[in-house]
Amino acid sequence: MTEKVKCLIIGSGPAGYTAAIYASRANLSPVLYEGMQPGGQLTTTTEVENFPGYPDGTTGPELMADLRKQAERFGTDIRFGQATATDLSKAPYRVTIDGEKVIEADTIIISTGATAKYLGLPDETKYAGSGVSACATCDGFFYRNLKVAVVGGGDTACEEAIYLSGLASKVYMIVRKPYLRASKIMQDRVFKNPKIEVLFEHNAVGLTGDKVVQGADLIKRMGEADEEKVHIEIDGFFLAIGHTPNSEIFKPWIKTDEVGYIQTKPGTPITNVPGVFAAGDVADSHYRQAVTAAGSGCQAAIEAEKYLSELYS
Ligand code: NDP
Repeated sequence: MTEKVKCLIIGSGPAGYTAAIYASRANLSPVLYEGMQPGGQLTTTTEVENFPGYPDGTTGPELMADLRKQAERFGTDIRFGQATATDLSKAPYRVTIDGEKVIEADTIIISTGATAKYLGLPDETKYAGSGVSACATCDGFFYRNLKVAVVGGGDTACEEAIYLSGLASKVYMIVRKPYLRASKIMQDRVFKNPKIEVLFEHNAVGLTGDKVVQGADLIKRMGEADEEKVHIEIDGFFLAIGHTPNSEIFKPWIKTDEVGYIQTKPGTPITNVPGVFAAGDVADSHYRQAVTAAGSGCQAAIEAEKYLSELYS
């Protein structure tokens, strides 16, 4: 079963929906597949206060519902389903949905996002949205004058810890090695910051609290003869142990960096395959904000329109 479309959008976060709004209004009749987590990462957050246009804030699920409604209003064909395989060797490009249906598309906008890595503790699920977060810029504001912990020792963890130190009363960094992996400049900033305490050689093994996070159980020098149980009192537990871009099915054709982020021509959503564009977190290891993802979704739709008008001229 093969269906031919002009513009296929894969993914339903802010990048995908914004691309859909622009592509629909440009008469590209886009078909959007929502993927495994309709609405993307934002549907797992609670309040969103930094998306322009919402002076009183909104919630992640509400924001995504609004974007979806706006895309539908202009005629985007939004479908439930996940892209499971691709053949981008020649145009029209072929994308398999749910292992069955094949879509042939003249242009593709990849907006499959990235998934924050978690430690895999059952407590991370138990306290999801009640003290556990993987985004300090999104949720840090709720921890003003409270104590928080950041897990990880890379650049992201240092950046998040420094950001949180401007809001929280105390920031612990929980680092499993005896050193930070982050760049020297970030390490210096962390060590100079009086609000940040780095707990080297500590692993988080559980969270405590009645309904919301109130503490974390750690083990110092886990597995060594002198291992020691440590408890810290915290109100927020932030994961910063990396993200995995959802680019696996495109890798045979699309250039990615060593982590898997899709590489685009700087400042544009243009990939190495003509007519295939990438927007949002799948191509952005740096900013990872809803508003920047939305902006790149807009760019991708504009580029898709330009590509199609040349193709059909
Ligand atoms: P990294 O992979 O660099 O660091 C991940 C950190 O998390 C490491 O300290 C790692 O520990 C730790 N970690 C991973 N898994 C676990 C686990 N299961 N338990 C405990 N700790 C764990 O990821 P980042 O997101 O920090 O950075 C990704 C890339 O983006 C890097 O290249 C970075 O330089 C870049 N970046 C640059 C920024 C900047 O220049 N301003 C800002 C943010 C990111 P361990 O060291 O033991 O493996």
